Amino acid sequence: MKYYDIKNPARKVSLKEAVLKSISGDSGLYMPETIPALPASFFAALPGMQLQDIGIEVSKAVLGSDIPASALKKIVVDALTFAIPLKQLDEHLFVLELFHGPTLAFKDVGARFMAGLFRYFLQQDHRKAVILVATSGDTGSAVANAFYEQEGIQVVILYPSGKVSGLQEKQLTTMGGNITALEVDGNFDDCQRLVKQAFADRELNRHINLTSANSINFARLFPQSFFYFNAVAQLKLSDNNIVFSVPSGNFGNLTSGLIAKKMGLPVHRFIAATNRNHVVPDYLKGGNYIPGQTHHTITNAMDVGDPSNFPRMLEIYDKQHSAMASDIEGYWFTDDDTRKAMTVLQDKYNYQADPHGAVAFAGLQESGMLAGNTGIFLETAHPAKFPEEVEKATKTAVQIPDPLKEVMKREKQSVKMENKYENLADILRQM
Ligand SMILES: *Cc1c(COP(=O)(O)O)cnc(C)c1O
Repeated sequence: MKYYDIKNPARKVSLKEAVLKSISGDSGLYMPETIPALPASFFAALPGMQLQDIGIEVSKAVLGSDIPASALKKIVVDALTFAIPLKQLDEHLFVLELFHGPTLAFKDVGARFMAGLFRYFLQQDHRKAVILVATSGDTGSAVANAFYEQEGIQVVILYPSGKVSGLQEKQLTTMGGNITALEVDGNFDDCQRLVKQAFADRELNRHINLTSANSINFARLFPQSFFYFNAVAQLKLSDNNIVFSVPSGNFGNLTSGLIAKKMGLPVHRFIAATNRNHVVPDYLKGGNYIPGQTHHTITNAMDVGDPSNFPRMLEIYDKQHSAMASDIEGYWFTDDDTRKAMTVLQDKYNYQADPHGAVAFAGLQESGMLAGNTGIFLETAHPAKFPEEVEKATKTAVQIPDPLKEVMKREKQSVKMENKYENLADILRQM
C-alpha cells in the first residue's frame, strides 16, 4: 500500500516513510491510497470478538502488505494491554471508556501503536530518532510513556511553564531515562512554534533524525479505529442504528471512526462534539471552513482553532460537503453546558464523567438521536485528571487511581528553557 500526500496527491511514499517522517516536505498529511473494506466473514465474527483480535484483523487489512503478520501481531498486542469497556447507562445510551491505559487518556493506544511501528522500522536499518513533541497536557505523557526505554529513541517534550495542571506536569517530568521534559518560559503556541522551527532547520536535520508524534502521524491515528469496532463487538445484535459521539479537538479520533465506517462498520451517524472552538460544527452546518483563534475552555484537550485532521476528513468525503454532512452532525457547547452535562450524567445515570466525555454526551442529547437509536459517547479521559471541575459539577469525590497517586509522589525533573530557538537547537544537537 502506498500513502499519498494530501497536498500533492501524485507524490506517494511507503508506509515506512509516512510513519517515520509524519508529514511531507510541504507539511501535507499522508493518507493510504485505498481504505479496504473488511469481508462479510469479519463482521459475522465481530459480536463478542476480543479487542486484540479486532486490532490484528483490522491492521492486517490496512498494513498487512507492508509488515509481516507476526511483527504486526506483536505491535497490536503490545499496544492493547488494557480493556476498552462499553458500559450501558440506559436502554439506548452507552459510554465507551477509553481511559484505562497507563496515562489515563485515550491517546495511549495511538501512542503505543506508533511506538511499536517505529521500533519495527528503525530496527530494520539500525537508525536512531529523536521524537519532538509540544504538549498542552495529555499528548506528551502518552508519548513519553509509549516510548519509554525504547532503544535508539530519545523523546523531547516541550511544555509551557505554569500552564499545564500539576498532575499533568508530574506525568511529563518524572519519567527520566530517554525522556527529556523542557519547561518553556512561554505558552503552548510558543512551544509549537519552536517545534516547527526545529523541523524546518535543515542544518539540524542533517545531523539528527527528527520526527513528530502528534496525530498528524498516520500511525497514531489509524489504531484508534479499533475503538469503534470494539464498541460494536460489545453490543447486542438488537442494538440498531449506532450513533457515535466523539469529543473532538484535532479530529484524529473522529477521523479514525470515519475510517472504520469506510471499512464497513455499520454506523448510522457520527456526532462531532466540541467546545467553543467550533470551526468544524460551523463547516458541517454552512459549508465554509473558517479557522479561528483558539479559545481556552475547561475541556483544554479540545482547545484547537484549526484542527489538523480536517484535511483528512475532506479526503474521505472527496471534498463533498453534503456527503460529510449526511454522515456527521456537529454540536458545540459552552463551559456551563459542559458542567450541566456532567451533573445530568451523575444525577440521572449515576455516572461520573470527565468534562471531555460530558461534551460528547451533550452532543448525543442535543441531537435528539437517543430516541430509537443506539447512542455511544466516547469518554476520553479519566475524571481524576480534572478533579476540581468534576467534583464541583457532580458533588461527588473522584477516586484517584493508583498509577496517578504513584506519579504524584515523584520528584519533578524538568529542564528550564527560555523561549528561544537557539536554546532548543543546542539541546537537540547534543542528543
Ligand atoms: C486529545 C483529546 C481529545 C481530542 O481528540 P482529537 O483526536 O484531537 O480530536 C479529547 N479528549 C481528551 C481527553 C483528549 O486528550
